[in-house]
Amino acid sequence: MTEISQQENKKTKCIACKKPAIVNIMNPFCKECFIKHYERRVENLIKRHKLVRKGDKILVAVSGGKDSLSCANVLSKLREKFDFELGVLHIDVGIPECTNERTLNVVEGFCRERDITFHFYDLSGFLGGTTAEVAKVTRRPLCSLCGMLKRYVFNRFARENGYNKIATGHCADDVTRFFFKNWISRDFLWISKLKPITVSDHPKVVTRIRPLYEMLEAENLAYIQIQQIPIAGCSRCSYFLRRDKWFDILRLIDEHKKDFKFNFVKALEVAEISSKEKRDFGECANCGEPTDGDVCAVCRVKERYNRIKLSV
Ligand code: AMP
Ligand code: ZN
Repeated sequence: MTEISQQENKKTKCIACKKPAIVNIMNPFCKECFIKHYERRVENLIKRHKLVRKGDKILVAVSGGKDSLSCANVLSKLREKFDFELGVLHIDVGIPECTNERTLNVVEGFCRERDITFHFYDLSGFLGGTTAEVAKVTRRPLCSLCGMLKRYVFNRFARENGYNKIATGHCADDVTRFFFKNWISRDFLWISKLKPITVSDHPKVVTRIRPLYEMLEAENLAYIQIQQIPIAGCSRCSYFLRRDKWFDILRLIDEHKKDFKFNFVKALEVAEISSKEKRDFGECANCGEPTDGDVCAVCRVKERYNRIKLSV
């Protein structure tokens, strides 16, 4: 875990102020210096990549877990300095292990304490059934269906509610894992968009920002724990429970080189990766959302679900 043992505590000094360190992820820090250092790194990334402009309306997608709450917390502290508006969207994805009354209460409470506009979206109402049920009926893998639906809602909800940017809690661990998965399957177009900011390339696509691009998952956890911010993590997708082969491979590298992911994303930030592939975006014939087909993937799933349900 992130906090160092009491015994080590006595010997290890904060790299910045020389007081006893309580966190040692890439470098040892005391409480105050860790928070300062963490927030300064996020702020520097925001400035370097111009993630935020004066007058922006930013919607942070918050699940209730450590990453997206860290992201929302730093952004809430920077609101005045950068002069932007902030809202939070929590989606009930219709899978009780992922979102439930607890996640809703945690996210709502977080927003209330910081005076952030809170939005709630119920996916089951939109689908006509829970995501778990739709996955079962249409035989789609639950996690990929959930991911696809969330991306659809983030974009549509943000645009329809006047937000010009969507911020997610994606961090260095996610970026590194996505990179390897997509590199192996040669999806260079996807990789070319794996940057701290993906600027809109269609009038209906909202610009995406990833303020925690350089932060490690372990740092996000420490940032939340030190400030005692309540979280309600998903018990399906929790970092400590996930057992996909890329998690294992990257964890192994981590054991030998604890700053690997950090240096990897720093390199990816400046790498120029382009793709010959072009996907032309039009609008879904059914819902009007951006898609590279006639009907978007979400409408196709909904249609299939309703057709099967009606036939039984
Ligand atoms: P995931 O797809 O679970 O890896 O989550 C990626 C990002 O999507 C998170 O960092 C959050 O910003 C956002 N997110 C995930 N789940 C939800 C949710 N239920 N409601 C709102 N945002 C979410
Ligand atoms: Zn559609």
